[in-house]
Amino acid sequence: MGLLSGRKTVYVDSDVLVIGGGMAGCGATYEARYWGRDLNIVCVEKANIERSGAVAQGLYAINCYMGMQWNENQPEDHVRYARNDLMGLVREDLGYDIARHVDSSVHKFEEWGLPIMRDPETGQYQREGKWQIMIHGESYKPIVAEAARKAATKVYNRIMVTHLLMDKTKANRVAGAVGFNVRTGDFHVFRAPAVIVAAGGASHIYKPRAVGEGMGRTWYAPWSSASAYALPILAGAKMTQMENRIVLTRFKDGYGPVGAYFLHLKTYTENAYGNEYESNWYENTKELVGDYIDRHPVPTCLRNHALLEELKAGRGPIRMVTKEAFQDPHKETIGWENFLGMTIGQAVVWASQNIDPKHTNPELTTSEPYVMGSHATCSGAWASGPEDYAPSEYQWGYNRMMTVDGLFGAGDTIGGTAHKFSSGSFAEGRIAAKAAVNYVKDLGKERPQVSEAEYQNLKKVVFQPMENYEVGRNEIVAGTVSPSYLLPLHGLQRLEKIMDEYVGGISSHYTTNEPLLTRGLELLQMLKEDLNHLGAEDLHQLQRSWELQHRVLASESVTHHTMFRKETRWPGYYYRGDHMKLDDKDWHCFTLSRYDRESGEWAMEKAPVYHIVD
Ligand SMILES: Cc1cc2nc3c(=O)[nH]c(=O)nc-3n(C[C@H](O)[C@H](O)[C@H](O)COP(=O)(O)OP(=O)(O)OC[C@H]3O[C@@H](n4cnc5c(N)ncnc54)[C@H](O)[C@@H]3O)c2cc1C
Repeated sequence: MGLLSGRKTVYVDSDVLVIGGGMAGCGATYEARYWGRDLNIVCVEKANIERSGAVAQGLYAINCYMGMQWNENQPEDHVRYARNDLMGLVREDLGYDIARHVDSSVHKFEEWGLPIMRDPETGQYQREGKWQIMIHGESYKPIVAEAARKAATKVYNRIMVTHLLMDKTKANRVAGAVGFNVRTGDFHVFRAPAVIVAAGGASHIYKPRAVGEGMGRTWYAPWSSASAYALPILAGAKMTQMENRIVLTRFKDGYGPVGAYFLHLKTYTENAYGNEYESNWYENTKELVGDYIDRHPVPTCLRNHALLEELKAGRGPIRMVTKEAFQDPHKETIGWENFLGMTIGQAVVWASQNIDPKHTNPELTTSEPYVMGSHATCSGAWASGPEDYAPSEYQWGYNRMMTVDGLFGAGDTIGGTAHKFSSGSFAEGRIAAKAAVNYVKDLGKERPQVSEAEYQNLKKVVFQPMENYEVGRNEIVAGTVSPSYLLPLHGLQRLEKIMDEYVGGISSHYTTNEPLLTRGLELLQMLKEDLNHLGAEDLHQLQRSWELQHRVLASESVTHHTMFRKETRWPGYYYRGDHMKLDDKDWHCFTLSRYDRESGEWAMEKAPVYHIVD
């Protein structure tokens, strides 16, 4: 116990605890102060909110803006759009709730100093597409973080939250969270009646295309480590649509975004022989998904599907035709600026590979799968909906409260609501915070009680990998392979290999089936047993250890959900080889799971999809 005896424990009491200071967390912190003037609002973040989360490096477009002030779109239009893109399955109540509030958040960003481009003729925001507006967004995150910093009672940076705490006086009620400072190693016990999880999505659960030294080059941020899912899962919250993982078509090797290219520059794709190919796969796709292929716009997954089939037919690579658009100096500038504001790496890749898009059409690729709830897919926690709009079956408590009392979520954390992006995640954080403040006020003087035995035990569990290393390293004279502990990197590579080969990653063209999933679950179980022997050399590796633990739990959830849904709902995101067709009769529903941490068992069920908007 040498490592523990010297470890300081810091106790932090608050009324509202926000875990993760990304887009949703900053929105939640900001709004909690508005409704809870006298409340103690704490935001805890594993990095530094100034530059943390998926928006760390900046963005070039805000992808969710209705434009209601100019009558461009109405919230109902956005619900129809998201429903269509997700092949019919979205939580329309939650999506509508975000859409009706998102514009005001964008106006706040502008007020706080975010430069939004304007159409010189109309004076309106410059549209990139129907839902996207263009920004000079390198400093998007610091601007948003400043608002949260000013609103919070205190922001705790550099603290990795590892577990939620439960109330000892009432079952199924949250009471706070624990974590450790990744710089000092202090253990932190956060006590709070309301907890908002806003910890982002999950990369690196599947083997990435870029491996070895390049493994940090993923599309989704490498530091998005599935805490948003693992924390609620461990607390017994129900999850939804975890099988709905995302695969992105992006520029090869740098994962540079294609949205501005398709929408604003009007570039298009072709196969290796210069031919259009999407129409070749129309009949094939119709056979699999029926009329969904005739929808407008064509759902994102189905466009992936055509590209993948063309590659499998041996007519790759697929290229983006940029040579025409780049003859226009305005479009050429936009094309480059698009990367400089958010994915500089793509410009560097092109420079290093002698690709000037004015003269060479660059290759596209499909990414490894990621888990997220805010982009074009909707994995995440099952949340109660807005009182004035949600069907009664979707309402069991406060807006955005999960199936655990006092536990709220926003952004990538919440399932069923795709296409919220950065602005919608911020808006959802605000929605969750308003509800969380109401929850705290309604509790009055009653406060959940934290069990000292629980957090003392967690303190031991959290630092165990350092203990394992301290003891086990004596058995090694050289190198990194130990007979008694597993390094987090080795555990991560093992996880990625299992998910890749058994749960539909890149090496199997995203295809899996029941026997593969069954074996995948067995291998995940063995990996979980070995995680008790993780070894962490220092605090950095300790953080990696807990990120791995979170990723493994989220992966297990993805695998169970993929097994449960016996159809291929989203060809292009993944395929069930044993159920290749979309089956609206049996599967026009949400999938829900609940993990029992005592038994390690997962219970699966279906929930109805209500179509509220015509
Ligand atoms: C490559 C890429 C491009 C994108 N492009 C666009 C775009 O052009 N336009 C647009 O509008 N949106 C875009 N998005 C989407 C947008 O970035 C996300 O929708 C948004 O960031 C989600 O917000 P969030 O708060 O859920 O997650 P994040 O913003 O990622 O925030 C999560 C936060 O939680 C912290 N955290 C995680 N785990 C823990 C833990 N255990 N303890 C403490 N803190 C923790 C993280 O450090 C992070 O700060 C893009 C996303 C990606 C990945």
